[in-house]
Amino acid sequence: MTTIETDLREWVPAVRDLTIDGRLVAGEGPEIEAINPATEKVTATVRTATLQQIDQAVEAARRAFPHWAATSPSERGAAIHRLADTMEKHSERLAAAIVNEVGTPIAFAEIMQVKLGISHLRWQAEAALVDRTEHLGPWHDPVLTLSDVAYRPVGVVACITGYNYPLNLAIFKFGAALAAGCTIVLLPSPRTPLTTLWLGELFQEAEIPAGVANVVMGSADVGQHLSSHPLVDRVSFTGSDMVGAKIMEQAARGLKGVTLELGGKSPNILLPGVDAAGLAKDIHLRWARNGGQGCAALARLLVHDSLLDEFLEASNEAFTALKVGDPWDRGVNIGPMIRPDHRERVQSYIDGALGDGGEILLSLDTPVPTQGYFVNPVVIGGLPHSARAVQEEIFGPVAVLVLFSSEQEAIDLANDTAYGLAANIYTPDVEHGRALAAQLRSGTVWVNGGGNMRPDAPFGGFGKSGVGREIGEWGVREYLEVQHVQWRP
Ligand code: NAD
Repeated sequence: MTTIETDLREWVPAVRDLTIDGRLVAGEGPEIEAINPATEKVTATVRTATLQQIDQAVEAARRAFPHWAATSPSERGAAIHRLADTMEKHSERLAAAIVNEVGTPIAFAEIMQVKLGISHLRWQAEAALVDRTEHLGPWHDPVLTLSDVAYRPVGVVACITGYNYPLNLAIFKFGAALAAGCTIVLLPSPRTPLTTLWLGELFQEAEIPAGVANVVMGSADVGQHLSSHPLVDRVSFTGSDMVGAKIMEQAARGLKGVTLELGGKSPNILLPGVDAAGLAKDIHLRWARNGGQGCAALARLLVHDSLLDEFLEASNEAFTALKVGDPWDRGVNIGPMIRPDHRERVQSYIDGALGDGGEILLSLDTPVPTQGYFVNPVVIGGLPHSARAVQEEIFGPVAVLVLFSSEQEAIDLANDTAYGLAANIYTPDVEHGRALAAQLRSGTVWVNGGGNMRPDAPFGGFGKSGVGREIGEWGVREYLEVQHVQWRP
């Protein structure tokens, strides 16, 4: 471990205030505690926003909107690049903030949150420059008219994020919204307040104009007030499907549009003929990363009968290499659950699965550290596909293994949950995998592991995994209204 990491393992951002209208403002609502889930230590106490302070943040965003919307695309793009520069400057500390409030292992925080987040922000800065206007040409019924289709920023966007990736989930929203010419009020999860409150200061350091990007903090009542606020034009939410449904109802009262990035129960299909032994390690590392607290975790392992023995044998070896514990230890793959109640919830799924006739196929023998909310990873087999552990998002280091005997059965099983966020197909024939994607009800389909998350490709879900798309041009368009302009020449 380097000296810098030694210094940062206790470090949390100093900002405890909200950012409203370009100023840090002390919250006046109830206190919440920020807790490091790997040590159980309270790292900070934060005052949440009152509903009145939410009004002030939304009003600031509303006042700033006309000017920001009218700012030239090149100025908007430059402002977003400045923000990316600022984050780059603080990248080591941003990663530390995430390790110490989410428990994400350090290498994963560096790559998946900070590096990936900044690369998306750079892409969004360039997206601010795009002229999307379409010229429809002449129409002759009954007289000649011409038409343009223009894209206008929707207005004030409420950006509400879940706890598991506090930085990149926020960037996916505010980067796209700011590029589109919208202003924002950002509300992170009260379980991970510190990284996002610090973002408020970084917005100022990057000289984002006052009121354009506001940061608030609070629990469900604050989220409810924000998402139903009459001056908010659109709500962009990442979190559970249960809260997503509430947000849709709250936003519906004001007939606001919503973008909802929700949970998943994503399948990983191993078709006959693949090197199941060679793939085992990657497969387990993928669903277990971030402690399984990932929306697109491929936690349903659909394995062809013919591959079971070789897969389990190799998986036993892969499992012995998994390490649960201190997220600052670069050898650790699996950090803690976010809170003790979540650890209990994960454990109750494991117990419930055993009660439903499941058996533990793979597990770790090493006990978890006594401090911190850790759970050892397990793979459970022998469950009916209707079992809760197969159908519901567990959001912990728990995967289920389901056998199939024909390709059609694999597709049917893959589609047999209420979700549809991501799927992976391992196949000896890439072209065949690409063709099978058409049969999967899933917002993302990876073939043979796919690749890194692209800033120019959409992300989102079918079914209960969400509404709308984030990232890429699709993500920017969530924050643009379509306007038809017609005239007689
Ligand atoms: P959550 O649904 O518990 O909370 C998310 C946010 O909603 C929090 O900020 C919370 O304060 C706020 N909230 C709660 N009640 C509200 C209400 N009535 N109105 C408005 N806001 C309210 O989610 P979480 O546990 O923080 O995050 C984990 C979930 O997020 C998982 O289901 C995961 O799959 C999902 N997720 C999805 C994606 C994706 O891109 N699809 C990415 C990451 C996480």
